[in-house]
Amino acid sequence: MERIILHIDMDAFFAAIEQRDNPELQGKPVVVGGSDGDKGVVSTASYEARKFGIHSAMPIYQAKKLCPDAKFIKGNYHKYAEESVKIINICQTITPIVEPVSVDEVFLDISGSIPFFESKIQIAETLQNRISQELHLTCAVGIAPNKLLAKIATEMNKPSGITIIEKNMVTKFLDNLHIEKMFGIGEKTAIILKNLGIYTSGDLGRFPESILVKRFGKFGKKLSYMGKGIDNSSIVPISSNNRKRPKSISNEITLLENTSDKEKIKKILLQLTHKTSYRLRKKNSSAHTITLKIKYDNLSVNTFNHTVEKAISYDNDIYKIVIDLFDKINIGFRKIRLLGVRLSNLEYKDDPIQLEIFSIYRKKFARVSKAVDKLKEKFGEEIINIGE
Ligand SMILES: [Mg+2]
Repeated sequence: MERIILHIDMDAFFAAIEQRDNPELQGKPVVVGGSDGDKGVVSTASYEARKFGIHSAMPIYQAKKLCPDAKFIKGNYHKYAEESVKIINICQTITPIVEPVSVDEVFLDISGSIPFFESKIQIAETLQNRISQELHLTCAVGIAPNKLLAKIATEMNKPSGITIIEKNMVTKFLDNLHIEKMFGIGEKTAIILKNLGIYTSGDLGRFPESILVKRFGKFGKKLSYMGKGIDNSSIVPISSNNRKRPKSISNEITLLENTSDKEKIKKILLQLTHKTSYRLRKKNSSAHTITLKIKYDNLSVNTFNHTVEKAISYDNDIYKIVIDLFDKINIGFRKIRLLGVRLSNLEYKDDPIQLEIFSIYRKKFARVSKAVDKLKEKFGEEIINIGE
């Protein structure tokens, strides 16, 4: 079966959502991004703002100089993420093989969908129409034999266009494609390539791979593939990302020294509770069942559990149950060798698509919230305390 990949890129996504939701902004220059005052960078500029030379990643203060009358909006990323989920849902009516690559870009493997439609262009139009009718947003679409070419195709006709690169057109297409237009080739690389006499993607594909590898290392091989329009990477459907939804979360500690000291044990149980509940919350989850596991020095194992009606996720709620369970145990003359806390019967707040989208957003805005991330990295779990 011929492989056919479709790529969607939303037109000025964040700005378009703001314009849709606020009629006063329609037809006007809108800039989304930045933080307090003039700090931060532009996330998205509406097409009206782009006419003033404003573009993504430009510092806000610079954008304000270029167009002081533009409407500057910090942005509501939660709202944008919800729109991303809706777009993915629409895409999944065409094929289950849908991969969001960015907050406003999606790849679809439509190889198996073709028989259900009249043509490739009809699939592209169906998607554009549904996105326009249901979400009042527009997008550009590219269709090609692989991801690399599909993304390049989308770029060709922005905004709102449809570009199809048929398999037998690839060579001709690459011959006419300037290397600067290729995704992944920056300004510096382009200058070096031009010095080698490489101006188009076709030139790049015909250039001896060995020389590219000598000049660029591993990237040289990638460049050669790009020049030939080869990209064998497959689409990772979003549903396969569900794997990160465990049925239970548990942590165990084997004690350095067997003990029957209750205070010591409670301290260890507190640590275990911190660990498990932090992991639980990171998955946007909460638990109905809390299990305490105890292994004695004679290697016998006991587990005790308690189930609550309303799922919990905070350390103090979980710890209270762990301690209640522990206090009921008659240790006798035995010593404890291992302790474990297990959270099960889990409940997830968001659907997996939403979680995936949020994680993409987190990556995208990592730069903005770098300070916060650094803190988390530095202090890790310790920063999360009881009563968080
Ligand atoms: Mg876009």
